[in-house]
Amino acid sequence: MISESVAAFPIEKIGKDFPILQQEVYGKPLVYFDNAASTQKPQVVIDAISDYYQQINSNVHRGVHHLSQKATDAFEASRETIRKHINARESHEVLFTKGTTDSINLVANSLSQGMIKAGDEIIVSHLEHHSNIVPWQMLCERTGAKLRVIPINERGELIQEDFEKLLNAKTKLVAVNHISNALGVINPIKEMIAKAHASDAWVLIDGAQSIPHMKVDVQDLDADFYAFSGHKIFGPTGIGVLYGKEALLEQMPPYQGGGEMIAEVTFEKTTYATLPHKFEAGTPHIEGGIVLGTAIDYVNSIGLEAIAAYEQELLHYGTELLKDRFPDLRILGDTEHKTSVISFLLGDIHPYDIGVILDKLGVAVRTGHHCTQPIMQHFGISGTIRASFAFYNTKAEIDQMAEALEKAHNMLA
Ligand code: PLP
Repeated sequence: MISESVAAFPIEKIGKDFPILQQEVYGKPLVYFDNAASTQKPQVVIDAISDYYQQINSNVHRGVHHLSQKATDAFEASRETIRKHINARESHEVLFTKGTTDSINLVANSLSQGMIKAGDEIIVSHLEHHSNIVPWQMLCERTGAKLRVIPINERGELIQEDFEKLLNAKTKLVAVNHISNALGVINPIKEMIAKAHASDAWVLIDGAQSIPHMKVDVQDLDADFYAFSGHKIFGPTGIGVLYGKEALLEQMPPYQGGGEMIAEVTFEKTTYATLPHKFEAGTPHIEGGIVLGTAIDYVNSIGLEAIAAYEQELLHYGTELLKDRFPDLRILGDTEHKTSVISFLLGDIHPYDIGVILDKLGVAVRTGHHCTQPIMQHFGISGTIRASFAFYNTKAEIDQMAEALEKAHNMLA
């Protein structure tokens, strides 16, 4: 039975908000199911980009002139929108970065300058995107710290007993994702953060996949760091956020030097600016920062609860349809707690071959390792076909994918 909120979801209106989705590819209506890689932009976001360049383009935090002040006000207003959205205590706990990858590298680079040392341990999980593995490996190489890995079970869930065993007095930091991009599995991060804190470890949450799908409250989670990307929440590319607890950010040395991040520069000694500017060297992605606020306002105008309920309905519908229709379909990450991602294999057909045929039939899915090679190694496969849904997708589009899969299956099996 479909809940009232799903039945009332304004999908017709939402569909019209995204001009890129109105097109046909190869003569077929475009079905865009690659939302875990990047999301499409509503007209309000596209308009806000052009409004910025037509009306207020100027550098921020520098000029006394009218345009610079308008740009600065809009940039800082967006920081406040983001603060409210993730319920950070202070807006200076919200740092603008290039995206999730940049946010994680910022933390890893800063902590490696004396706050994490040889003999310390960093825990990541087997479920991470390469962005939440490689910066920590690089930190370990630089500092002599050791990387430990939380294993996963056959459903792609983190094995919590093993996580507890890994925590010890040497653990300095735990870095895990909120939701796996490859499988859609939602991790019990609130409990994991509490366990890590009981061992006096800091926790960084990679929120790249959670932020477009669920309400995130960094204070309730008690996360020390929370990273996400603008382009995954219907905003521009090249902009992202690192939330960090004030006390921790105060303690951390800056990651990059340059303009904006200083209080005073002499050849003898430089002092650094206060938060957030200490971590925002150089001219930022001004238009991206401003428009990320517009994207978040747009999402909130629909409501994340309604979005989550609608996407769960799509997930349920798609999962049942594909399982019924294809007896040789194998879903990776087939668990109760997951977001709107179906990552699967069809018999022993190579995912790439399926992806190419689906594309010709108008359906955009992702195939391959999804920047999570260790997960693929765990399952002994080279990759999967991943259909990831956003709130502008429909059941009719899932039907179109199933039809296209049927054709691909008949051709390749
Ligand atoms: N972490 C996860 C879980 C992701 O899904 C992604 C992107 O797919 C990233 C990190 C990296 O995000 P970005 O490329 O925007 O920095």
